[in-house]
Amino acid sequence: MASTDIAAVMRLSAQAFTLYRQTTPTSRALFLDTIAQHIEALGDALLEQASAETNLPIARLTGERARTTFQLRMFAAMLREGSWIEASIDHANTAKNPPAPDIRKMLVPLGPVVVFGASNFPFAYSTAGGDTASALATGCTVVVKAHPAHLKTSSMVAAAITKAIAQCQMPEHCFQHVTDGSFETGKALVQDEHTRAVGFTGSFSGGRALYDYAAARQHPIPVFAEMGSINPVLLLPDKLSKEAGLLATQYAASITLGMGQFCTNPGLLLAVKSEALTAFKTALASAIAQVQPAPMLHKGIIAAYRQKSQAALDTGCASLLQSGITPTSDMEPQLLITTVSGADFLQTPLLREEVFGPYSLLVECNDMAELMQCWAAVSGQLTTSLMGTDQDFTNYPDLVQSAMTYAGRVVFNGVPTGVEVCNSMVHGGPYPATTDSRFTAVGTAAVKRWLRPVAFQNCPSALLPAALRDENPDGIWRLVNQQWQR
Ligand code: NAP
Repeated sequence: MASTDIAAVMRLSAQAFTLYRQTTPTSRALFLDTIAQHIEALGDALLEQASAETNLPIARLTGERARTTFQLRMFAAMLREGSWIEASIDHANTAKNPPAPDIRKMLVPLGPVVVFGASNFPFAYSTAGGDTASALATGCTVVVKAHPAHLKTSSMVAAAITKAIAQCQMPEHCFQHVTDGSFETGKALVQDEHTRAVGFTGSFSGGRALYDYAAARQHPIPVFAEMGSINPVLLLPDKLSKEAGLLATQYAASITLGMGQFCTNPGLLLAVKSEALTAFKTALASAIAQVQPAPMLHKGIIAAYRQKSQAALDTGCASLLQSGITPTSDMEPQLLITTVSGADFLQTPLLREEVFGPYSLLVECNDMAELMQCWAAVSGQLTTSLMGTDQDFTNYPDLVQSAMTYAGRVVFNGVPTGVEVCNSMVHGGPYPATTDSRFTAVGTAAVKRWLRPVAFQNCPSALLPAALRDENPDGIWRLVNQQWQR
């Protein structure tokens, strides 16, 4: 699609926004519920199409579809509950010197949002995924750029959304679907004058390029890009001495889950040399040796995996601990666990880059001081995991403070793969994990990316939005004169 067509798409999105922003939260809740129903109505045909395009197994896609419809319904419930709008009211106070005016504040939608579908979540982070659902919830219109690796799946889901638009009598262009796969199209979408924000999940180079396009606009806009992570895991000494075998089984499964094609894949393990670490390595190697490879998502992903895993080995300091069962097709990766000394890790920045796929690097440190240095050398992360006993946490009391500095989610005695969809989830983190560490891409708080606050000063009550009227017609929680009220 040429850039002139993108201009037309974005103009329609902006026109639809003037109507869609005025729809009530309850009507948008019904709209989101209806989208979920139409996705479910696509039945097995949707799963089969997605599996054919992405190589993901039907069981995984069944779970991901359920996650997607759950997310839509979660945002619908959030709209009906109402406090997401963050209404607050400070009545006029004539007793103050000088007198204080009446001020009322709420969140309003930014405008048309461009969403880039992610290759590794064809449902949950694509056409009707978390970015689209959260933006539509707020009253923003959405233009999705379909990921070229699952265009037909994306088109089926887009058709389900279009049906829901008609059924719920929403503005026709509150959602649009762009299927042309080219960087020029992506750039034109980000730089169009009507675009107000961007949601993206994918590579660092892609996310950074979109961020730079947005910053170069005459009127810059926010880009919420989730760009990857190596998710450091600390295997603490006491834990390792007690549970080396169990840790190895747990982490072999997490590293190879979905052929490692998760942004939360544990790509970096940090531990201090010991007999227990040797036992862990033996158990991890034995578990990995039995893992059967499966086809990766698309040719670009497997090519990038081969190139990046080879580059790590070519540094000359990382050595192979164990590979998985030998691949039998072009699309299957060689599963790899490599090891490096703490000193070499510190001197080799390339080893801190994401290798997207079934790969993990074990850093063998001389002591905890070196381990802490290696951990600190890694840039911003989505997650970091602490595998430790009470004794470990007593011995190293600074761990939690450091973990909070480095990552958006701190996992205790678990694996980082598996991101729960709930109010308290943070799927974000300091740059370069994302372009804005203040926000999350998962959970109800994801709506915050598409909203901005507006204050009304001495506004006549007839002109106030419903959420700010004294009678509180929707019965939502509000902060009134510093007291929470309903
Ligand atoms: P990608 O290459 O980042 O592409 C994602 C989307 O962004 C595509 O629609 C692509 O456009 C667009 N795009 C990328 N670079 C662009 C640019 N410079 N200008 C304009 N648009 C641009 O991601 P991918 O295809 O999913 O996979 C490639 C690599 O990304 C993987 O090997 C992996 O390293 C990484 N990845 C990471 C995660 C994660 O969660 N951390 C997830 C998926 C992938 P086109 O449609 O024109 O190609």
